[in-house]
Amino acid sequence: MSAQIISGKDISADIRGELKDEVCRLTTETGVTPGLATVLVGADPASQMYVGMKNKAAGAMGINSQQITLDADTSQDELMGVVAGLNADADVHGILVQLPLPDHIDEGAIIEAIDPLKDVDGFHPMSVGRLATDSGDFFPPCTPAGVVEMLMRSGHDPSGKHVVVVGRSNIVGRPLASLLIRKAVGGNATVTVCHSRTPDLGAVTRTADILVVAMGRPEMITADLVSPGTVVIDVGTNRVDAPGTEKGYRVCGDVLYDEVAEIAAAISPVPGGVGPMTITMLLSNTVKSARLAAAR
Ligand code: NDP
Repeated sequence: MSAQIISGKDISADIRGELKDEVCRLTTETGVTPGLATVLVGADPASQMYVGMKNKAAGAMGINSQQITLDADTSQDELMGVVAGLNADADVHGILVQLPLPDHIDEGAIIEAIDPLKDVDGFHPMSVGRLATDSGDFFPPCTPAGVVEMLMRSGHDPSGKHVVVVGRSNIVGRPLASLLIRKAVGGNATVTVCHSRTPDLGAVTRTADILVVAMGRPEMITADLVSPGTVVIDVGTNRVDAPGTEKGYRVCGDVLYDEVAEIAAAISPVPGGVGPMTITMLLSNTVKSARLAAAR
């Protein structure tokens, strides 16, 4: 069987095209241009790269993006001051503080200081609570929202399906389960969440109509853990040694792609799968925030 490839790269390009049109419309009709502020503390190369990618993508669709870069020894109070300034800035509709923060900073306190109306990362306790209770308006966290969008746009509505999520982290597995059980478009699934204490992982994953893997374990999901005809979304992004290659490493998912693609109905690749969707959903949340601000 040759599986349908669920390309996050292609789906992302479609959504970014739609968002670009919406940014243009919002600006023309309401005078509000969406604004995204990213805050980077320190000089971690991976964080620098992620923030750079987010700003570049925002700029490409007409979103006003500003990057605030602070020294690694910035104090908690100084960072709180920066967040307060962005909360008060009417031109800023989305605030993203790049995680992880240096050890001396209380990450939870910083996230809680962000105005929930500008919490485009979806990590503020109010956003988390609204998602968990399926109440009120909220910004869904970007990676889980990207997974749901990939399923919907590739013709695999999770409604009525048994979705098995492997991983229960606060940024992927847990909020994804909450999204999938909502009484809403993109929800209404029957969800099982697995983790490292699940005794017989395969016995559960083989019952999935849709299997979403977010473990951070390179290529651990082999074909014997997947039933033929399953739709597989691989969130995992792992760097593994590849001696003899130019870079000396390669990027792979948590799913052994070549093997599982032989039996799956559909599968997302790594790279080019969930990764591009995460940034796209951040932009989508920023545009949504601007739209809500324009209507207030
Ligand atoms: P975490 O390490 O926070 O969570 C991993 C989860 O997998 C935990 O719940 C853990 O269980 C579970 N797990 C680990 N080993 C096993 C196992 N052998 N059997 C069953 N469950 C297991 O990772 P994240 O959620 O932050 O990220 C997961 C992956 O997704 C990573 O590769 C990460 O790089 C990637 N990622 C990709 C993003 C993207 O944009 N594409 C964004 C975010 C993450 P337990 O809770 O019991 O420890």
